[in-house]
Amino acid sequence: MLHGIIAFAQTTKDIVDKIVKEANENSQLEPLAHELMDVIGPRLVGTPQMQKAHNWAVEKYAQWGITAKNEKWGQWRGWERGITHVDLVSPRVVSLSGMQLAWSPSTPKKGITAGMIIIPDVADSLAFKKWLPNVKGKFVMVSMIQPTGRPDYNWEEFATKESFEKMKNDRDAQNDAWRERIKKTGYTSRNINGALEKAGAIGIIQSRWSEGFGANKIFSANTTEISVVDLSLEDYGLLYRMVEHGEQPIIKVMAESKELGTVPTFNTIATIPGTELPNEYIILSAHFDSWDGATGATDNGTGTITMMEAARILKKIYPNPKRTIIVGHWGSEEQGLNGSRAFVEDHPEIVEGVQALFNQDNGTGRVVRISGQGFLNAYDYMGSWLEAAPESITKEIETTFPGTPGGGGSDYASFVAEGAPAFSLSSLNWSYFNYTWHTNLDTYDKIVFDDVRNNAILTAILAYMASEDPDRTSKEKSVLPMNPRTGEQMTWPATRSPNRDGGKNE
Ligand SMILES: [Zn+2]
Repeated sequence: MLHGIIAFAQTTKDIVDKIVKEANENSQLEPLAHELMDVIGPRLVGTPQMQKAHNWAVEKYAQWGITAKNEKWGQWRGWERGITHVDLVSPRVVSLSGMQLAWSPSTPKKGITAGMIIIPDVADSLAFKKWLPNVKGKFVMVSMIQPTGRPDYNWEEFATKESFEKMKNDRDAQNDAWRERIKKTGYTSRNINGALEKAGAIGIIQSRWSEGFGANKIFSANTTEISVVDLSLEDYGLLYRMVEHGEQPIIKVMAESKELGTVPTFNTIATIPGTELPNEYIILSAHFDSWDGATGATDNGTGTITMMEAARILKKIYPNPKRTIIVGHWGSEEQGLNGSRAFVEDHPEIVEGVQALFNQDNGTGRVVRISGQGFLNAYDYMGSWLEAAPESITKEIETTFPGTPGGGGSDYASFVAEGAPAFSLSSLNWSYFNYTWHTNLDTYDKIVFDDVRNNAILTAILAYMASEDPDRTSKEKSVLPMNPRTGEQMTWPATRSPNRDGGKNE
């Protein structure tokens, strides 16, 4: 069959070249990013923007001649972010930089104007109980004041060695003291808001620095009646110092979110049917939802547009795949891989037929790491598929075979748990954890389009190769190594059920 092999090699090269050319000369990544991030915006589960995104994706696929549908898997607390406005009104006027946390209750229409109080350093929980009535009618400041808004890399560059060391030591001591302060109240940083709310606080002010210039993490509130607002490091520090020095700052907070009852949640599933082996599947995977401190550009807008672009290119260059190609745009990954876990639960026949799944979800960078996820023979197929891609795309990729199975972190884990050969296309970090992951700065400007284009090409080629592979992939699991921490043999991660009715106590 030498003749056949040569013909296949020639076809492969031809297809790969066409994929690269289409990706480079007719890229749709920029318009996709604009429409998704700039126009639709963040995609928090249960918000109207998430629904808009699902509808938008189905429409896009239709334009490319690909069938797609929104598949319901559950329901969530419906909530819509509105305007957040925070101003210092006394002793001087300053508009502050901050925002309501996700699912935070709104303020009354006119906003709330009030003074502030800091969590005190009390002797024990009894003393805290005695102090609690002081929060009545006040905004409570629940975060430590940061000693510096400069990230460590900036100190490293400019500070004297002694000064940098001193700052770090002081900050460590301050962190320890603050942890101790919260502990002595008898609450945790997570459940203290509830106690403050019960005691009559009219709002919670926090600042959750992400250790980069201007970057804060924006997660969810944990109150039922009062607003929780995150302020920038410096604005929080300004208020904190004023309170400490007795200047009695007064702020006005307007937070205009809406409660929308209970709303359905979806995955968007696009399908290019297979011609020879329609019951075997290549899945392109990326979660569609995001947190909503910004627009979720790198978490996971870039993974989303990578998979959409790869699918578009495949449909154009390779419209009749041997195996079925599915694109899974999962909902509610951020609250525990819920969309993908639901898909796995609802479609055992597809999971059984998975030839390979490729997931991307750690930022805008080009792919530099791929693990075999514990599948004993992953090297045989992943290795040969990767060889088909141009060297410029693969030269920085470090592979680990067979690797160990991922138990979480992103949606591939939902499939790995079921024994389906699912892989994470892991990106170069581009300061992901400090600057964009779940922050107020995860926006369009952070996207590195050349790297995303690289990833769309890689994904399209891997999908093509996996689809055309003469063999079914092996799902044999490797014998897992000892866990160095416990000294016991690692076990394969277990399948977990999704939360299909969420957000009630978020
Ligand atoms: Zn993510």
